[in-house]
Amino acid sequence: MRLDQQRYFHCKHCSHKLRFGRRECGACYQHTPVYNRFIFWLVLVLLLTVSPLASLVVAAV
Ligand SMILES: [Zn+2]
Repeated sequence: MRLDQQRYFHCKHCSHKLRFGRRECGACYQHTPVYNRFIFWLVLVLLLTVSPLASLVVAAV
């Protein structure tokens, strides 16, 4: 199953089930929340993986 066919979140304006990764609601064309974007989770995961590594590097030096 493709990621952009998953529906995790509801539109806060019309409660339409949002397709993941879409910038606009498919029903009312309002902007979707930032957590419906793929880039948000990508940045979040990067921060969560990089920050412990960075503290290890700082501790080693
Ligand atoms: Zn909507």
